[in-house]
Amino acid sequence: MTTVIDGKAAAGDVVAKVKAAAEQLICATGVVPAIAVVIVGQDPASQVYVSSKGRKAKECGFRSIEHALAADISEGELIALLEKLNADPSIHGILVQLPLPDHIDAGKIIQTIAAEKDVDGFHFINVGKLGTGELKTAFVPCTPAGSMLLIERALGRDLSGLNAVVVGRSNIVGKPMANLLLNANATVTVAHSRTKDLAGLCRGADILVAAVGRPEMIKGDWVKRGAVVIDVGINRVGENAGGKSKLVGDVAYTEAAERAGAITPVPGGVGPMTIALLMVNTLASAYRAAGRMPPS
Ligand code: NDP
Repeated sequence: MTTVIDGKAAAGDVVAKVKAAAEQLICATGVVPAIAVVIVGQDPASQVYVSSKGRKAKECGFRSIEHALAADISEGELIALLEKLNADPSIHGILVQLPLPDHIDAGKIIQTIAAEKDVDGFHFINVGKLGTGELKTAFVPCTPAGSMLLIERALGRDLSGLNAVVVGRSNIVGKPMANLLLNANATVTVAHSRTKDLAGLCRGADILVAAVGRPEMIKGDWVKRGAVVIDVGINRVGENAGGKSKLVGDVAYTEAAERAGAITPVPGGVGPMTIALLMVNTLASAYRAAGRMPPS
């Protein structure tokens, strides 16, 4: 029997814990966790993401401050805003919604955010901490961190001795995912567009994470029987066919579900966990700012 991993339910559990811990922090110290979300321009998808992050922050009892900036803002002006937020002790998390307009160097902007407020986990310091196993003080990128919780929930056991294959090597998903799995004692292979015999590699995976951005690329017969399959991909298909568009993952869900032991659906799998883990990171930052150990 295949288990469909319910990301919405798992995210609901995480958010409930964050909300309770935020209440405790506020009662004990008066520190209200606060996240500043910066959006540049009018990209509709970015606007949807930013408003859902703001809503979730409020649900957790946080203060959420949105800075909506014109598309033609200069890089210098954006950096000046981030430096102001870095210096503001009432702000615990800073997030710049990507992508940024072409005239702004996204890499430079990410490195401008203070590492201790980098709740996206993209700053070199946080990347380095994850790479060296300093997980207690690192901010781990939200999508892989959420995927990891789903894997642990699905397996209900230690990952030692299991083979994990991560398809995709982006800095945002693939690489941090691989590091988390390695930290958890899985034996990890990272595949990408130059990998040979991807299907064969995937067939050896007890844990298969797809973070590619190609609709239903991972076929059912690439999945080892009983494997845990985490589909990070979000692909909108059908827009040009005149029909109603829909979201699909990087895994051919129906055929993969016939072989997997547990699998995330799209939507309703990894997506809700990403935003929940952003709340976890912001809460942790607020605890640290108040001189307390973040709840585990
Ligand atoms: P990127 O485009 O940055 O990376 C894609 C990776 O897939 C690259 O490493 C690329 O290899 C690899 N790849 C591309 N084609 C193939 C192929 N044919 N065979 C093997 N590997 C291939 O994407 P992201 O990591 O940012 O995102 C991946 C997916 O996850 C997207 O669908 C995105 O929308 C989704 N996503 C979902 C989130 C969520 O909250 N659920 C959050 C973030 C992303 P190479 O490096 O060689 O080019």
